[in-house]
Amino acid sequence: MRPLLVRTRLDLDAGLAAHRAVGARIALVPTMGALHEGHAALLRRAGDEAALVVASIFVNPTQFGPGEDLDRYPRQLAADVDLCARAGADVVFAPEVDAVYPEGPGRGITVDPGAYGRVLEGASRPDHFSGVLTVVAKLSGLVRPDVAVFGEKDYQQLVLVTALARDLCLRLRVVGVPTVRADDGLALSSRNAYLDPAGRRAAAALSRALTAGVQHQRSGAASVHAAAERVLARTPGVDVDYLGVTDPALAPAPESGPARLLVAARVGDTRLIDNTALLLGG
Ligand code: AMP
Repeated sequence: MRPLLVRTRLDLDAGLAAHRAVGARIALVPTMGALHEGHAALLRRAGDEAALVVASIFVNPTQFGPGEDLDRYPRQLAADVDLCARAGADVVFAPEVDAVYPEGPGRGITVDPGAYGRVLEGASRPDHFSGVLTVVAKLSGLVRPDVAVFGEKDYQQLVLVTALARDLCLRLRVVGVPTVRADDGLALSSRNAYLDPAGRRAAAALSRALTAGVQHQRSGAASVHAAAERVLARTPGVDVDYLGVTDPALAPAPESGPARLLVAARVGDTRLIDNTALLLGG
């Protein structure tokens, strides 16, 4: 079935009214569009969680810093609606900027992401997570979902959105979905479209570095870091922004137990991120 495409708050409310009236559970999958199989996995998971699946498609201006790719970010609504149909979305909410930011982007009340919003991605992109959490709070207010589904691909975002829902008492359950990858391991991303063939080959080093890290997990965080670093260092064209091992909540890595390895790198002028779960120690 084709999803209902709505562009305004009024049409969104009209589209959801019948479901709200009977108390049907609603799942929200926030995206910026240029959808791929990673997004499809989120939408399918959302369908397992709720009677009604809403995909939002909104290139959120406040999560882009000066000089980032806001203007060239790929926009392809018709193809996105097709993918939403295949992946079982019931409603596609694709608002204009004014519908989300009637006060104007960057004005009005914003969300402070706290200390874990200032490390890793947050250290490189200072206002990024404030923008992300502000738009997630707004979309939650507009859609009023019971569940929101996010990808582990953006692991720090998943951790922070989970904290947002908890700390601001949003009555929203946040569900994480494992990263969907291409055959060579590269995490699917809308930004992969920026890569030329040589860049695409170089980009596969990120997931190879993560795999090398996992292979050293029994020896602890320092070995994991060193192994991943070796892979990145020997790949020309990959300029590492950060490589870090943390605990699952982004605090310093433990000696043993669950942990996370996170990487960000530039390939040409494309910035890519990836991460993997670890189990440190013997
Ligand atoms: P984006 O459109 O890039 O803002 O991503 C929207 C949602 O899709 C976020 O929750 C991402 O973490 C998730 N996502 C993006 N790429 C992938 C992927 N390769 N696998 C799983 N989820 C993904």
